[in-house]
Amino acid sequence: MKKGVPVSPGIAVARAFCIDNLLVRREPSHLDVTALSAEIRRFEDAVVTVGSDLDAIADRVSRQIGEEEAAIFRAHRLLLRDPAFVGKVKSAICNRQVDANTALHDTLDEYATLFSHIPNEYLQERMADIRDVITRLLTHLSLHSPPKALQESSEAVIVVAPEVLPSQALSFVAQTPVLAPGVPEHSRRQGIPVAGIITERGGATGHAAILARALGIPAVSGLKGITQEVHTGDFIAMDGREGHVYINPGPEVEAAYRKLEREYVNLSDSLISNRDQEARTRDGERIELLANVNSAADAALALRAGASGVGLYRTEFLFIAHPTVPDEEEQFHAYRQVIEAAPNRTVTIRTLDLGGDKQVPYFERHRETNPFMGWRSIRLTSAYPEFFQTQLRAILRAARYGQVEILFPMISTLDEVQRLKKTLQRARQSLLKAGESLEHPVPFGIMIEVPAAALCIDNLLDEVDFVSIGSNDLTQYLMAADRDNPKVAHLCEPFSPALLRTLNHVIKCCTARNKPVTLCGEMAGRPRCYLPLYGMGLRRLSMSPAFVPSMKELVQRLSLEVGQEVADRVLQMRTAGEIQGYLTKKIRQIWPEVSILDMRR
Ligand code: PEP
Ligand code: MG
Repeated sequence: MKKGVPVSPGIAVARAFCIDNLLVRREPSHLDVTALSAEIRRFEDAVVTVGSDLDAIADRVSRQIGEEEAAIFRAHRLLLRDPAFVGKVKSAICNRQVDANTALHDTLDEYATLFSHIPNEYLQERMADIRDVITRLLTHLSLHSPPKALQESSEAVIVVAPEVLPSQALSFVAQTPVLAPGVPEHSRRQGIPVAGIITERGGATGHAAILARALGIPAVSGLKGITQEVHTGDFIAMDGREGHVYINPGPEVEAAYRKLEREYVNLSDSLISNRDQEARTRDGERIELLANVNSAADAALALRAGASGVGLYRTEFLFIAHPTVPDEEEQFHAYRQVIEAAPNRTVTIRTLDLGGDKQVPYFERHRETNPFMGWRSIRLTSAYPEFFQTQLRAILRAARYGQVEILFPMISTLDEVQRLKKTLQRARQSLLKAGESLEHPVPFGIMIEVPAAALCIDNLLDEVDFVSIGSNDLTQYLMAADRDNPKVAHLCEPFSPALLRTLNHVIKCCTARNKPVTLCGEMAGRPRCYLPLYGMGLRRLSMSPAFVPSMKELVQRLSLEVGQEVADRVLQMRTAGEIQGYLTKKIRQIWPEVSILDMRR
């Protein structure tokens, strides 16, 4: 048995499917002579598709971001038209009788050897361009035309990979969709059926993990070397609640895991029956259980799960999944669809939060040593005023169709907040000038994710209508522990005294000033974590739709007396271990069956 980092709860028993790291060479796949012309065609198709993607990206980037950035894509496009480059790959396929992926790796190696002898900065940059184009082709070959076996497999598989990118996770669907009862077939997502995900890299609050949880796919990360040990077709039993993985288990383990799987699914299904009930504590106090969504389909699912609205719409997934850059009309339609999927409910739309582990190619020029600490989120969008204005206009236009709030991520200073208010005002003015009618004021909120903002929350509250605490980022910045790195995952657990005292400070300040405060990080969906937060005064949570039913069950078991006692106790404690142990004991008293859902919750 192997023990990794548990990143998404659930049990899976299925065959493995191994996916390569795109730029890490795998065993060459030798082809029969008869298969060569089909493989050349597969490569040519990839060149055509990637070429037209690059044309479209260059056009849109030029219009929305700038000609300087667009020039990168035009250069990449030219490379695909270069007969020497294309010819090299084709002859590698024919002469060495290998698949297109292997031929691309061979070509990359050839260029790397050639360029390494010429210490010229300009040529080194061209090497980076070649690497980018080859990555794009490999991505296309592996993802957009995923390995035939994976595409055609009607049986869900457990994906085993060095890491899963958010863009890859978007193409997966759960084997047993959580919240399945009552969800009509047409509103289910299409995609590759995946029973589980096992990776070498990736932390519990990284975005691939968040997507896995949102999709209801069990996942375990941090298993270094697993891609060497597991082969496609191996039988796997995994427990995403504990991080346990068995490779080719014996019949006893298999039977035990199948039993656990049934228990887990049964309890999840039974909880969904509370979806029409209000989330009220034993004292009758109402708690707002909102959902984090990435699309209109998620918003519809969230309502079916019993969420009272959308507390966080992560708009960046529209950009990550889009082949080019969505323009104002495309954004407007996407936002409107989410708003209309949650009629008469509040929908909090967060402006683009790219950077860190959420990358799109058009900003790739700016790769950094410390992407989470650098040019990310609001810092990045603010650097492209026209690009940002396009998004703000699209949100304001869509806001006419419902109850919308606008949320700005990763705020660090008061200056930023004041500047953003003007930026939003500018978008409003430009729409009014164009004859749009904007009657409703759209509430303006900020995310508290940077410790500096948490500490100075008092100053920021003067300027905003509401606050949303992004505890995933707040934890990583407070603890100086990358949320996506399994080696420091123990520091990213939400039980540290530093985090809980910081949250207490933010919640108390917001409550005293009558400003609504929501917590929308992953800890919002973990019952144990809510015990002290409730006692601190937090009444609004936003989480993956899959966790709404269990959080509603918890709320119905809560009383103010217990909440306050728990908050007082944990705020006195000095270590994360002590806090975690105490909360585990407490949650089991309040709700003994909770551990079936997730040992860690
Ligand atoms: C957070 O940081 O807690 C948050 C909700 O934002 P994201 O996970 O998208 O960074
Ligand atoms: Mg965040």
